[in-house]
Amino acid sequence: MDAIRCAVTGCLGNVGYNLVFFLASGGVFGPHQKISLNLLEIPDLAPQLEGLKMELEDCAFPALHEIRVGSDPFDLFGDIDCAFLVGARPRGPGMERKELLQANGVIFQRQGQALDRSAKKRVRVLVVGNPCNTNCLIALHNAKTISPDQFAALTRLDEFRARAVLAKKTGADVSDVSPVVIWGNHSSTLVPDIQHTMIGKKAALSCVDEAWILSTMLPSVRKRGAEIIKLRGKSSSASAAFAAVSAMAVMTGQLEENSLVSMPVFSKGNPYGIDPNLVFSFPCRTHGDRLTIDPSMRPSDALWKEVLVSEKELIEERDAVRHLLV
Ligand code: NDP
Repeated sequence: MDAIRCAVTGCLGNVGYNLVFFLASGGVFGPHQKISLNLLEIPDLAPQLEGLKMELEDCAFPALHEIRVGSDPFDLFGDIDCAFLVGARPRGPGMERKELLQANGVIFQRQGQALDRSAKKRVRVLVVGNPCNTNCLIALHNAKTISPDQFAALTRLDEFRARAVLAKKTGADVSDVSPVVIWGNHSSTLVPDIQHTMIGKKAALSCVDEAWILSTMLPSVRKRGAEIIKLRGKSSSASAAFAAVSAMAVMTGQLEENSLVSMPVFSKGNPYGIDPNLVFSFPCRTHGDRLTIDPSMRPSDALWKEVLVSEKELIEERDAVRHLLV
């Protein structure tokens, strides 16, 4: 069996550092599938990157076949099967969201071009670096010879958080809580929706009322990241890395056929009338390594209003980086 080659950008950051160990230990493809890692960081961090490589070697992971390190995506995206685009500039003090969009947009434009030129045409690309939906849109526009369906951004952690909140509220085991749908942007406008969620054999909506969803669940899922920053002094890292690994498992066909997942995917042709040129989190169904948007899950009118707020935010983000979309 050939090794699967995965690239990870920003792998010395909070999220990336955890992610590479999950990956090397078989987190996406299992411990028996050989994996090669192409690790990218900014050029200034070349010595630290060598240090990370040594740490990975020291784990003697049975699945880890080869490690390459560097900073040039045109080189390190060569022949990759999957990519985790994690590296992104954090928002500096006083930096406007618009400035962050521009600074990161340029990074994802170049990485889209590098994927186009160097990666395998069947590559799967998960964008984690924020604003991840719009960065993903930029990357897929710049990778003209790769199908947009092979790109996604990350709301998997938001989905896990929503399930955990629901389990806590109802006293259920989290493994008894079936998927919660996440709509929209990975931002403070995201919308968790439990209309189709089951808790054991009961519908979640028979265990909690809609007023609780809007007044408590929605803000607590949206603010979870900020709350963690307040307590830890830094943002979620292992949980985001775990969610990224789980999202790549979805994208590479590791889940059961017809599983329900929430993924921000290219919105062209979506059955909900959402603007067709966004990366938007929808309820999706798995079919091997393909995802289709489930058309039967429109939420209540009250939640739909919230979904449209998230759409508006994404349209504004896109319009601010229109010059990077080709
Ligand atoms: P983190 O590792 O904490 O986060 C990386 C990115 O992931 C951020 O954009 C972050 O957004 C985002 N993110 C975190 N959690 C989630 C989530 N649940 N869902 C979606 N996105 C999420 O940042 P660090 O600053 O610690 O590390 C970044 C690394 O990237 C550094 O090592 C740096 O050198 C590298 N870098 C690479 C660049 C490049 O590739 N050209 C450019 C700039 C930096 P948020 O900030 O909102 O938490």
